[in-house]
Amino acid sequence: MNRLSSFALLSVVLIPVSLLFAFESDGAETFSACIADLQSVARRQAVPEPVVTEVLGSLEYQPRVIELDRSQPEFRQSFSAYLQARVSDTRVRRGRELLAVHRRLLDRLTREYGVPGHYLVSFWGMETNFGSYLGGMPTLDSLATLACDPRRSEFFTGELITALQLLSREGLDPAAMRGSWAGAMGHTQFMPSAYAAHAIDGDGDGKVDLWKSEVDALASAANYLARLGWQRGQRWGREVTLPDGFAYAQTGLAHSTQLADWRALGVRQADGSELPTAEMQASILVPMGHEGPAFMVYANFEVIMAWNRSQAYAIAVGHLADRIAGGGRLTAALPRVESAPSRSQLRALQQGLAQAGFDPGEPDGMLGPATRAALRAWQQATGRVADGYPDPDTLSALGATAGAISLDAQGDDDQ
Ligand code: CA
Repeated sequence: MNRLSSFALLSVVLIPVSLLFAFESDGAETFSACIADLQSVARRQAVPEPVVTEVLGSLEYQPRVIELDRSQPEFRQSFSAYLQARVSDTRVRRGRELLAVHRRLLDRLTREYGVPGHYLVSFWGMETNFGSYLGGMPTLDSLATLACDPRRSEFFTGELITALQLLSREGLDPAAMRGSWAGAMGHTQFMPSAYAAHAIDGDGDGKVDLWKSEVDALASAANYLARLGWQRGQRWGREVTLPDGFAYAQTGLAHSTQLADWRALGVRQADGSELPTAEMQASILVPMGHEGPAFMVYANFEVIMAWNRSQAYAIAVGHLADRIAGGGRLTAALPRVESAPSRSQLRALQQGLAQAGFDPGEPDGMLGPATRAALRAWQQATGRVADGYPDPDTLSALGATAGAISLDAQGDDDQ
């Protein structure tokens, strides 16, 4: 959950001065000078003096965090593999148990915030496997390390200062603030800015504790989703079937139209029944191409993507929520593909598209919106199914070695 915009106006104040002159220096050597700058920033942002001196002054550089931040894996899971791992039978079973255990709380949260309990339990399962893995990296050290690295200094300086303010506001123990290497914390993996702005005291003990209180974590997820614009009474989306001859160029989030229009085109629910008659905007996604499952997604899908900008994540949250609520497996078979195309394959595909006169955007080895749009246009121009999916035929026709295929599970912000 990145909340970049709120800090944009403070950029002059928030970049540690030492970084302006130290871009080529070794990270660890720069760190103590950077901490001194961060202490000045923290004082200007009204962080209490004991926190500035004792907590901020004793933070340690974490080289592993920089390694993880810089690593761009060559191979990734396919959408099939990602979905099967995230929505496992074990997780569904545990989710159903927890839905029953927390029934009264979840019903209250649904009344107050409009978000049904099975979605809240689903987010909890996706983020930390229901609290079984909260992450072991020291949050403040991690944030300071990233704040002292030039790449995203401004964002992480903001998150660090917010974390320090949060620590003094909630009386948190700095050593107990642990989580992901990038600073996400607690049962629902909130970044400090989301924690400070949207986390609430669900159990009424006067503290907001996303580590120890499951009730605080579930209530905070409900509050956060409501503020992101969750539409009461609406689903995330659903699996659908597409008619023969369907024009796949209409798939993707960029194309949204009324449910009635999709009904008229012959799109049906996965069990073959008619789509409901509600007045809703909807888009169609085919994350594994025309031979894989198809999903129709509504406004709440974009709310889930505001929490985490990955389509694969958002489909997994929605499907896991359906399963937890008692729903069955997907009707369509998931193609048996383990890996997404590698970065070098995608770079070759991007070069092939550019050579053929279709602009794939930055040749970054990622299947982003521009690349997928160019791919659809190329598929259409060459008489293929324009589903924006790099199947083996597409990859080899564009000069990328055929092999593993699929949508990126991480960081896919396309369509
Ligand atoms: Ca509490």
